[in-house]
Amino acid sequence: MNETTKHKGLRRHLIQRLRIKGIQSKDVLNLMLDVPRHLFMDPSLINFAYEDNAYPISSDQTISQPYTVAFQSELLDVSATHKVLEIGTGSGYQTAILLGLSSMVYTIERQQALFKKTQRLFLQLGYRPKKHIFGDGYKGLPTEAPFDRIIVTAGAPVVPKPLLNQLTIGGKLVIPIGEKEQIMTRFIRTSKTSFDKEEFGRFRFVPLLENKN
Ligand code: SAH
Repeated sequence: MNETTKHKGLRRHLIQRLRIKGIQSKDVLNLMLDVPRHLFMDPSLINFAYEDNAYPISSDQTISQPYTVAFQSELLDVSATHKVLEIGTGSGYQTAILLGLSSMVYTIERQQALFKKTQRLFLQLGYRPKKHIFGDGYKGLPTEAPFDRIIVTAGAPVVPKPLLNQLTIGGKLVIPIGEKEQIMTRFIRTSKTSFDKEEFGRFRFVPLLENKN
């Protein structure tokens, strides 16, 4: 069996497990069947790429657990016309899934070494976010706002106000909120000044850090 067939087989098993855990979006599951997560992993951990776990990448950060990626992607409810902002590019794996859902993806990472590494990987694999930015995602991306969808892939102690303000009316923000442990939270902007808030269970993320490049 060659590597491609082997990896595809492992992804098929992973997708089955995600389905059993409650992921329903066909678009998200199909993308996770296609995107080669092993190429976003640290080479020493490649054999674990299709386990449903988070793993260390460089700069003390982690590649999110596949279930978490699927869960956040499903909650984000992206369609092809949406302008999407991701805070916390990390390995780029979640970005690759988002790029399968919309071609207008903007992504921000605050760890410079990781930013550069993932930038090279995107080029190598042919993933083309509209912008991949090195900076502090706490502030969002005012020059490109508003966004239909915003996803934060690090744990925020509180919801950053700029992110709420950069949503379109009807726009959605999916963000894990909390210190040691986070509650997955979705905000929907219902008018210029009002938001609906929904909560969806507990997760663990590396922290969203402010103002420190
Ligand atoms: N989606 C990524 C998750 C990486 S972990 C993946 O699956 O690989 C979260 C990432 O958020 C880390 O890379 C961390 O450096 C980044 N991060 C933390 N605070 C940030 C901030 N204020 N702005 C942008 N990125 C941030």
